[in-house]
Amino acid sequence: MNKIIIGNWKMNPASQKEALELFDAIKAGVKDAKAEVVICPPFIYVSSLKFPAPRGARLAQFHGRQYSRLKLGAQNVFWENKGAFTGEISPAMLKSSNVKYVIVGHSERRKYFGETNEDVAKKLQAVLEVGMTPILCVGENEGENREEVLREQLAGVSGFRLQASGLIVAYEPVWAIGTGKNCRPEDVKKAMETIKNLVGDVRVLYGGSVKADNAQEYLEVVDGLLVGGASLNAEEFIKIVEKGS
Ligand code: PEP
Repeated sequence: MNKIIIGNWKMNPASQKEALELFDAIKAGVKDAKAEVVICPPFIYVSSLKFPAPRGARLAQFHGRQYSRLKLGAQNVFWENKGAFTGEISPAMLKSSNVKYVIVGHSERRKYFGETNEDVAKKLQAVLEVGMTPILCVGENEGENREEVLREQLAGVSGFRLQASGLIVAYEPVWAIGTGKNCRPEDVKKAMETIKNLVGDVRVLYGGSVKADNAQEYLEVVDGLLVGGASLNAEEFIKIVEKGS
């Protein structure tokens, strides 16, 4: 199966203009990529990024919105599909905006917005119900036991029919996110084995200070990468995508 490279822009860039420039540069650079590429912009930019139609698709059907190997993702979602939930965005809204993938349970959501494993399980179920693919983030803080944390974070979701749903799990040790500290590929491999033992043969990604010069060593052990900081630099991100192609 082809590798999947996901760019998580977090709360960046600062304006529509910069978001469009960044996206256009990435789009041009990954045009011939074999890897699947997913861009997860902030919600406010989701509808302005134009994804051209896949080769052979009829434009009228496709509204000119999607490359076959370049897809749109979201960084978060709420678990209800409508109602009085000020400030939230629903799975149905994302689906109708051409979003295919949704990051669920990112460590920054858990840390700054108090998301619990129960919240994460509800979001995961809601994303699956509307037919999008969740990217479930798991990983230990510095000093925590990796196996124990993965077991706790995955306990609430092990009852779902995950394999069939195409679930993606991103192993992201929190201490490696945005810090420049790298998890050893052999430890990533162990985490991947633990994840597969717990939830089945799902696709597993690695995330945590991935750059063009270390992407290859991770791609040898996992199915793809979740890239934060380096996805804001088109040149760097395109080089990472090339390693996965
Ligand atoms: C992330 O946001 O999921 C991430 C892995 O960030 P970074 O690549 O900046 O460490």
